[in-house]
Amino acid sequence: MPKKLIISDSAGVCFGVEKAITTAEEVLNENENKNVKSFGPLIHNPQVVNILQDKGLSVVDEIKKNEKGTIIIRAHGIPNYQEKDLEDSDVNVIDMTCPIVKKLQFAVKYLSDNEYFVVIVGNSKHPEVIGAKSYGRKDDVIVIKDKNELKVESIPSKKIGIVAQTTIPKELFWDVVEIFKLFKEYKVKAIDTLCDDINNKQIESKEIAKDVDIMFVIGGKNSSNTKEIADICKYVNKNTYQIETFKEIEDLNMSLENKVVGITAGASTPPWLIKQTIDGVLQSG
Ligand code: SF4
Repeated sequence: MPKKLIISDSAGVCFGVEKAITTAEEVLNENENKNVKSFGPLIHNPQVVNILQDKGLSVVDEIKKNEKGTIIIRAHGIPNYQEKDLEDSDVNVIDMTCPIVKKLQFAVKYLSDNEYFVVIVGNSKHPEVIGAKSYGRKDDVIVIKDKNELKVESIPSKKIGIVAQTTIPKELFWDVVEIFKLFKEYKVKAIDTLCDDINNKQIESKEIAKDVDIMFVIGGKNSSNTKEIADICKYVNKNTYQIETFKEIEDLNMSLENKVVGITAGASTPPWLIKQTIDGVLQSG
């Protein structure tokens, strides 16, 4: 048994994910024929998605001709051209795009409509970023991971709008803003599209990771925000492990006896998975 277990207060599902899950469950309960689909995985947690699939939710990546039934738009949102496909179809659409992701989409649209060249700081392959990018004018929006990928001289405009993927660490966004501010000839408009819930998780998890022997970060391997939290914890404590379930801790075959253990979780991790991990850690040797 560990000497001490420190659990992050902010660990686990955010309001955006919670709303998406509860809405999907309600819709599945109401639909006897179970013709309910989500556009992309509803959230980035395989265990929750599997449970919803067992209850009848299927996952689609495109809208087929003559598509029928109900489609739930995932919490990360979808590109505007796919939203248009949904509008033009006969399906009943339930939009579970998180309001903070919507803010990012609208910020890109606002900046583009006002002739700004848009810089999105984030992961270009993440569905949220792909969706947000579609709201900009095709040749006037770029995605960069961080300030190191920024090539100011290659941007064909002096009017720059900057936004961020909702879940990246704050510094990555503000570092890029600061670089543009060094150039007096640029007109810069930065819109903070970061998610406070994630920011709290990152700060609290880092503080816990500093003080423990071993840190566990629970969440889907496909969850960007969980990976960010794990990377932040790893930076201050190399004994950090990102896991989906307690089974992975067992597989590590490490002794937790008399260790100080920290536990945190990403925004798509449900309370029951956190509880299973806590119970498993407390019963471990
Ligand atoms: S992590 Fe933040 S932005 Fe993402 S779904 Fe949750 S509340 Fe929304």
